[in-house]
Amino acid sequence: MISDKANRIGASPTFKVAAKAKAMKAEGIDVVDLSIGEPDFPTPEAVKAAGIKAIQDNYTKYTENEGSPALKKAIIGRLKEDYGLTYAQNEIIANCGAKSSLFHAFQSLINDDEEVIIPAPYWVSYPHLVQLAKGKSVFVPTKEENGFILTAEELKAHITPATKALLLNSPSNPTGATYTAEQLEALADIIRGEDIYVISDEIYSCLIYDGFKYRSIASLGEDLKKKTVLINGVSKAYAMTGWRIGYAAGPAPLIAAMSRIQSHTTSHPASISQRASVEALGGSQADVSRMRAEFERRRNYSLMKLKTIPGMSCFEPQGAFYLFPNIHSFYDLEFNGTPIRNSYGMAYYLLREAKVAVVPGDAFGADNYMRLSYATSMENLEKGLNRIARALAELKPAKRAKRIALSNGITRQRGPVPVEARLPLNLRDGLIAEAETRLASDVAFEWNANIAGVIVRLRTNVRHIYEMWVENWAPAPPDAGLEPHGVLYAVEGIAGREPRAFFNTETKTGVVVNVDAYAPVRGLALGLAGDVAGRRFGANLVRGMSLDCDGRGLLLLGPAGTKKTDLFFGLLRDPRFRFHAGDIVQVRPAGTAAQADAFERKAFLPTNTVELYGRLASLFDRSKCENVVIRKEDCPNTECLRTEDCRLDRGGPFCFKAAKDAYALLDPEWLGTSAAPRRTALRWIFILRNDTVSPALEELRLDDALRILERGETPGAKKSAAASPQPFFNPFFLASTDDRIEMEKDFFRRLLPNVRTFLFNSGAAGVDQIKEAIGV
Ligand code: PMP
Repeated sequence: MISDKANRIGASPTFKVAAKAKAMKAEGIDVVDLSIGEPDFPTPEAVKAAGIKAIQDNYTKYTENEGSPALKKAIIGRLKEDYGLTYAQNEIIANCGAKSSLFHAFQSLINDDEEVIIPAPYWVSYPHLVQLAKGKSVFVPTKEENGFILTAEELKAHITPATKALLLNSPSNPTGATYTAEQLEALADIIRGEDIYVISDEIYSCLIYDGFKYRSIASLGEDLKKKTVLINGVSKAYAMTGWRIGYAAGPAPLIAAMSRIQSHTTSHPASISQRASVEALGGSQADVSRMRAEFERRRNYSLMKLKTIPGMSCFEPQGAFYLFPNIHSFYDLEFNGTPIRNSYGMAYYLLREAKVAVVPGDAFGADNYMRLSYATSMENLEKGLNRIARALAELKPAKRAKRIALSNGITRQRGPVPVEARLPLNLRDGLIAEAETRLASDVAFEWNANIAGVIVRLRTNVRHIYEMWVENWAPAPPDAGLEPHGVLYAVEGIAGREPRAFFNTETKTGVVVNVDAYAPVRGLALGLAGDVAGRRFGANLVRGMSLDCDGRGLLLLGPAGTKKTDLFFGLLRDPRFRFHAGDIVQVRPAGTAAQADAFERKAFLPTNTVELYGRLASLFDRSKCENVVIRKEDCPNTECLRTEDCRLDRGGPFCFKAAKDAYALLDPEWLGTSAAPRRTALRWIFILRNDTVSPALEELRLDDALRILERGETPGAKKSAAASPQPFFNPFFLASTDDRIEMEKDFFRRLLPNVRTFLFNSGAAGVDQIKEAIGV
């Protein structure tokens, strides 16, 4: 129901920690909240009085769309007095908070795909505001040793023809870093020579300490002023966050565009708030000075306190009301066995153990930090910082044994690669020559696998593929001079070639080119082995999930979407069933019986199987995996951030559900108490379909079963738009030549009289009906 656009936007993480802290407080827990981004002072009395008077005067109707002339006059006066900037009425617009000013500025300035340079760490909303304007955020990390200031070189290096604007935030949320006139001049020199604009968020410009001289980039000259949209508001300086008044000052055409958009979004901000803001901006500034002085006192105290915490270091900011200490030295320490891996881990640890709410630095694009707000009473600061110091002292070095050294991770090549199964001989020779050249110059791995009695040699230069291969297959007998049945090359780095797989039937050679993932190599190996096993031993490979029940085998076959995995794990919950094979079995019709052999050492399972069978998560953690997400920055899925359910934050080494085409090589022995058998006597085949109208169960006659198998489609099933039917439900089936299809049909013709075959509707029945059908 929800649009993709909305789904891409997570709730503001700063609000989320605050919400959690609030919920804990509501339960009566004494939480010190250092996560808040608003002054703790009340709105000054004179300002409140102006708001009340506005109501009494019935100043409660629509005003001008850009804000009342009186408010714009007060804004113009403040900009003149504070920065010496001169603006006309048509160069000013008032909005519903500075956030709304920023929203309308981005909407008015940015075309699709234009880039906005955002120095990191950055305030959480900027990337979302850019995204909503269909622009692209280009994050430029600033360095703590440079005082978190963007340098001219860093700016220059990130300007491209697509760059539309630089976003400046001085003083910065979250670091408090504030640009000097010289630092702004250095940036201005670059900006002057480029066709780019500046969106300058100066919402904290009144909260400046140590006698620092604040400058707005718009005040560096008329040329800069023409390229700048200055954003400010009353929220922070006047303790008026709830009144929702922000403003923008900039070139008249841009302000007019913002006004046009605003006329269809929020209209003007509340009339009462406008009146109150006229008083705030135009009246006495004594309250601002008083609050500023108090913030400075708190900043000095908090910095002093942080310096006494071993392992903590903190940049000394000149403005805003945040501290951004570096907490990297605490990562990989642990508390009661739970390691702290990142800033989210730290924030949750402090909330749980110290009862102090902070904001993880990752929310601002800087995971080695956390943000503390000192917009709270001295008493709270003292209590909160003492608690933090105590909690950090409790952390102990993590036990080494906890580290898992598996080369799991994201491969560049995800998803299936096209297979060209009829590679002519001359092209095969050419490809092998290319592959061998590459192997000669790179590291080369070679291993002969025994895949269902078929010896397949792998030659590769990809360590990950080699490791998965060795782990998954039994080794071939170590005969000297052994001639394999087939050879697979998996070679990366062949210039000028698309990721692709090729197979030559005569010579049984496969070449997987420029693919760094194991799944396509395994697929090709199974195709090759299936072909050889069928022709040579009359023991074909059948794609399905196989279980053993007291020495008798049950095979589940069917296309995607028929709940095969669901039923498989459902049956495994019954201790009478044992895991036999997770994906494919070798089947040999033998007289009046049929043998099914599991030949993969590991079960190659999609990691999202954890959603069906939660127990798998801890087992996958110890398995070799492919395409699992290890680092949050690689995660394409923001849903868990919204629901605060990120596994990586809770100490999990991988996230299984974030990436598509992620697999784990699971040792089936870990699943059950009794060992998984390698062989079972196949008795039952269940061909699955999933719909609401077909009968739950039908026993199939041989011809009907054959027809369904050959087509790879169950009758009555909805046609899936995505996947075309796979003959024999087997995607590894290499060449669908007539003789190969005949061979497969012949195999099933011999097999089916020895087993009972059912057509089972998983939309109408479940594991109990399967058990009933086989009489257990
Ligand atoms: N910019 C920055 C850097 C901020 O920190 C905030 C408030 N957290 C805003 C803009 C938004 O201010 P307002 O409440 O006026 O929308």
